[in-house]
Formats: sequence, C-alpha cells, structure tokens
Amino acid sequence: MAQHQAMERAVVDDAEPPLLPVMDANGRPGCPPNPPSALDGRIETFRRTHYPDTSDAVWENWHFQLSHRITTAEELSRFLTLSEAESAAFERADALLSFAITPHYLSLIDPNDRDNALRKSVVPTIAETIRSADESDDPLGEGEDSLLRCLVHRYPDRVLFLTTNFCSTYCRYCTRSRMVGHSEALSFHWQKGLDYIASHPEIRDVVVSGGDPLTLSDEVLDSLLASLFAISHVEMVRIGTKVPMVMPQRITEGLLQVLRRYKPLYMSVHATHPDELSSRSVKALNDLADSGVVLGSQTVLLKGINDSPETLRSLFHSLLKVRVKPYYLYQCDPISGSEHFRTTVDKGKALMATLRGFTSGYAVPQYVIDTPGGGGKVPILPAYEVGQDDHALYLRNWEGNIYRYPTLREVASC
Ligand SMILES: *Cc1c(COP(=O)(O)O)cnc(C)c1O
Repeated sequence: MAQHQAMERAVVDDAEPPLLPVMDANGRPGCPPNPPSALDGRIETFRRTHYPDTSDAVWENWHFQLSHRITTAEELSRFLTLSEAESAAFERADALLSFAITPHYLSLIDPNDRDNALRKSVVPTIAETIRSADESDDPLGEGEDSLLRCLVHRYPDRVLFLTTNFCSTYCRYCTRSRMVGHSEALSFHWQKGLDYIASHPEIRDVVVSGGDPLTLSDEVLDSLLASLFAISHVEMVRIGTKVPMVMPQRITEGLLQVLRRYKPLYMSVHATHPDELSSRSVKALNDLADSGVVLGSQTVLLKGINDSPETLRSLFHSLLKVRVKPYYLYQCDPISGSEHFRTTVDKGKALMATLRGFTSGYAVPQYVIDTPGGGGKVPILPAYEVGQDDHALYLRNWEGNIYRYPTLREVASC
C-alpha cells in the first residue's frame, strides 16, 4: 500500500498539466465546429457564386470535378484572397509541391477565414519551402523497399501497391509528395507487381494506394481487383483513398457495383477534419458501407488543423456515425517542408489521453509513428504503465487514478 501511494505521488509530481476533454452542459463533447448543415450551406453559396450555370447533374459528375480542379495561384485567387505567405509559395515554382484542389473541396473552405483548417491542409504557404535538417523527401525509406516501382514490401505478410501518382487534391503534408502529381504512369509496372504477389505465397493482404486509386476508372479498378482476388493466397484487399472527402461525386452507382463484387474489401479513408463531412461525403460513406466495404480512417495529426481535443473527438464521432472506424492517427512524417505541420509527440500523447475512457473505445484510433528509415509503424501510448515491481504492475487509468494489477511470478521451466 505504501508503495502504491509512493507510486501515485511520483506520477502526480511528474505529470504535465493534463489536456482535458471539453464537454458541453450535458457532459457530452460539443458539436462538430461546423455541422453538416452549415457545410452544405457553404457549398450552396459557393456554387451560386462561382458556378451559377452548372446544373446539379454536371456538378455531380466526377469528371467535371477533375477537369475543373484549381491548379494555379491565379485560379485560386478568384475564390479567395491569397495571403502573402500563400502567394510567396506559388512564386517559388522550383520548390512548390504538386498543387490541385477539386471545386468540391474548395467549396468547404470559408474564403473569409485565413485560418480555416482545410485551407491550411491544401493551400501551400512559403513555410513548405523551408527544409530543415531532420527532414527528407522519402522519410519512410520507401524508395529502398520498393523492389518494383509500384510495390513496397516492408512487412512479411502484406504489401503496399502504389497504383498511380495522381490525386484529385494534393495535401500539403503528403508523405509521398516527392512523387505524387508527376506524370509517370505506374500502370506500366502493375503486371510485375501482380507477378511478385502471385509468386510470394506469404502475402495475404494488399494495400492498394497511390496517389489515389479511386481516381482510376471503374474498368481499371475492376480489373486490378479481379487480378488481386484471383491470387489464391490474397485473403483481403484494402484501398487507401481520400476521395470520399475531396471528391465524393466519384462514389457512383457504377463504382459501387464494382466494389460489391469483391469481399473482403476494406477501405482506409483519409480524414483530416470534421469540416470534410458535408452531407455529400456522408452519403458517399454510407453508400460504401451499404455496399459491404469495411471502412476505417487514417488521420495525420496536424498543428493548427486538428490538434485539439474537440476537433479530434468531433472528427472521430462524425466518422463512427457513418460507419467509419478510426484506425490510425499518424504523427506527421518529417517530409521536407513539413515543420509547420508537426506537433510534438507529447502533444499527441496528451491528445490520445483525452480520448481513451472519455469516449467509446471505437472512437479511439491507434496513434503511431511511421518510423523514418523504413522500420514500419510503431504504436505510441500515453504513460498508462507507471511502474512495476516483483508482485505487481501499476496502471494509471483514464481519470489519472493508479491501480495495482497483481502479476504472476515467472516460473522457471525445468
Ligand atoms: C502502413 C503500411 C502497411 C499496412 O500496415 P498495417 O499496420 O497492417 O495497417 C503495409 N505496408 C506498408 C509499406 C505500410 O506503410
């Protein structure tokens, strides 16, 4: 008991002031900063202002969304007034990473709010041209792992299949910003990738990523999925995509028909902020779930964008409501020009501590660091195991109380 108290004191003495989750008057987390209805209003105003002659049918066509992407500073400044830091980024053409935003995604951004979360995630600023010493163009060492142009085989039983370098919208913090947007067609390498998977019976899980694989046509996706599922040792396929958020119009009945043919098919949806969940994206995600696709999310922890307890909780609750299980929260990779996006790992741990216990376990993703140099993902937890002796493990719970769990003595064998 004395030990228990000593432990408690030690932990309390060392503890940083806790980051507390924010509750409303009913003891529930507050509403998303912008509920879907507010976002829908923003989309309507945007369309009325900038696309008055575009019918619903045309706006809903994903090829329209692709062909009307905003790709230059001149185009962007028709929709919002660029700040000095933003304009300066475009002037550094040598250092600028690929830039494109779909009209749909731009419509979610309040043009009068320079601090808008989605704006900061897709509009470059001069900060991204600053390369600091610990950063790299390929922090995950994927170049080294990619035996073939389109395959990263890092873990024994699963591979990352890079299908395309194209995205409808480019995230400024992209871990593959060194390659996305460049015109090299990866499809030339697909057959070699498929042959590699077919000749490695230990591969049971294929992560189809890119770029964004949902920018491929229905026919091409269908044939890729058919080829993968035809390999007898491939037990599951996952698609990594941001399309339900940046171009939900892509989730057509035709695409759903293709996806329904393949089971088990998982989808990791890249989700950054609750402002992405307009009614249109909610519909896209519901359609995917209704079609039997198992949905998880991946979120990059980003300074000034989603690094608050309220924003993360809103995001994860909003996702669960549309049957997306928060899967990973990533510490931002040290990609070149990303310093302004990175939080400290301690901040990430403190944020995780505001989730566990305060909300459904289903709303709590795994916080991971994808280790620089290609070591794979490592889970990072707040300090829950606070001490250990010969008889017990001391655990701190979600409320900060210490509990003793009696441990078994190791019995020497023979
Ligand atoms: C993230 C990743 C995977 C999948 O990892 P899980 O933890 O199984 O989701 C596979 N290969 C590579 C190269 C990855 O980066």
